[in-house]
Amino acid sequence: MTAPLDPRTGWALPAPGAMPRTAQLEPLVTRVLAPNPSGMTLDGTNTYLVGAPGSGQVVVVDPGPADAAHLAAVEAAATARGARVVALLVTHHHGDHAEAAAPWSARFGAPVAAAGAAVAGPGGRLLADGDRLALAGTTLDVVATPGHTADHLAFRLESGAVLVGDHVLGRGTSVVTHPEGDVVAYLASLRRVHDLGPAALYCGHGPELTEDPVAVLDFYLAHRAYRERQLLDALAEGPRTVEELVATVYAAVPREVRPAAGQSTRATLAKLQAEGRVEPATGTTVRLA
Ligand SMILES: [Zn+2]
Repeated sequence: MTAPLDPRTGWALPAPGAMPRTAQLEPLVTRVLAPNPSGMTLDGTNTYLVGAPGSGQVVVVDPGPADAAHLAAVEAAATARGARVVALLVTHHHGDHAEAAAPWSARFGAPVAAAGAAVAGPGGRLLADGDRLALAGTTLDVVATPGHTADHLAFRLESGAVLVGDHVLGRGTSVVTHPEGDVVAYLASLRRVHDLGPAALYCGHGPELTEDPVAVLDFYLAHRAYRERQLLDALAEGPRTVEELVATVYAAVPREVRPAAGQSTRATLAKLQAEGRVEPATGTTVRLA
């Protein structure tokens, strides 16, 4: 079984580290890149300002890290749009997306909206799948996309673009965290966004995907199936520890992202175990059922 081909290999995407700090992606959307690059966050966290031109308002999606330089860049982007921040939306609870939500809520006098109460805070709004938010002269549809985390949301814009947080990344593939994440839910969420027919995917990390977003979602689904096949093939040779499986299946990934690979591996093993295809063997090893 050969690895599925990532359609983005043929696209003209900016090289890692070469994304502009601030970019207007379409009339509704300005992206501001936070200064927190790493192996896990790629170029850094993408913060999105969404609002109808001339409305004088924007919604901030995924404020990101509570960083003074990032705040200044977001405020400058809002000013350039002639807009004030009227709400902060958060895709999921991870700190690289949510940390600034509470301090910026206080600074802007704007409420936070998220799926979880811990992120939304005492004055915030809890979001659920199917909610339609009329904000900043436009509408955003809330699409529950659990998998990476249990609380993960995406936001579909009037333009047809979808803000996908960590559900889909601009480069490479995302992580199904363990034990919070869920591979079955993640696959269903990939199909869900696929079936929206997104005009573009605006990712939590890495470049925006505009050329053929559906092809990226097809690749993500194929990639998950490939990883599952690799695990089953490795276990066909005998019981293995999770560490041995990660070393085999993720031999090519940098050491920095091995812990994340371990989480995705554990999440996939949990799915296979629930399906009765894999079972615990001795203490620390698993085997085919
Ligand atoms: Zn995340």
